[in-house]
Amino acid sequence: MRILLSNDDGYFSQGLAVLAQALEELGTVTVVAPDAEKSGASNSLTLDRPLMVRQAPNGFHYVNGTPTDCVHMAVTGLLEQAPDIVVSGINHGANMGDDTIYSGTVAAATEGYLLGIPSIAVSLVTLSGAGRHFDTAARCVLELVQRIRARPLPHASLLNVNVPDRPKADIKGFRITRLGRRHKAEPVIKTANPRGETVYWVGAAGPAADAGEGTDFDAVAQGYVSVTPLQVDLTHYQQISTLGQWLEG
Ligand code: MN
Repeated sequence: MRILLSNDDGYFSQGLAVLAQALEELGTVTVVAPDAEKSGASNSLTLDRPLMVRQAPNGFHYVNGTPTDCVHMAVTGLLEQAPDIVVSGINHGANMGDDTIYSGTVAAATEGYLLGIPSIAVSLVTLSGAGRHFDTAARCVLELVQRIRARPLPHASLLNVNVPDRPKADIKGFRITRLGRRHKAEPVIKTANPRGETVYWVGAAGPAADAGEGTDFDAVAQGYVSVTPLQVDLTHYQQISTLGQWLEG
């Protein structure tokens, strides 16, 4: 099995290393990841400068670009054969609900999906960002990929996986979920740099607003691995008819 692995935390991140090691059980793992942290990069492509690929002593490839650049470049030029699956992560922190819009982790998997390859984004749900049980998330992804290898997915799929930060023995199982919703984000934080100039930091994501039954938030809170099938079409189908009437009215 040929596995392409990427992330948005950078090629040096712990989550990536743990996942690469686990997936090597299943075949050839090629890592192509950003050379710096790109969390929040979403689906951006770098079009204003050339990209370079370098290789770290451990064999990981790193790129001066975004998560999307990494997967795009790997699949359309770098790899001799298309991968059987694209895996992105393990992200240091949750990607649930509205996070998926901003996430570079999800974006790397989305790029694989758009290029016709089954793709999985995986995130470890931590409060502080200092995750402890990356091994748990890696074992869960390994199980999922093994299942996909044994029994191919029924559709070309993009799966968003969130894993509780706890020992594997304390994971209750897998749950299919829908995305929840968050409240609107916290305000930007205004501060001063050492030169006395005003600068701003983007604030934290809001807390969960819709964390009800069936959501990713709920599954993870109950100790399950959340698996959400994603699609890329942003069309709001229920509004087509009413908006059409409004336009003509
Ligand atoms: Mn990240």
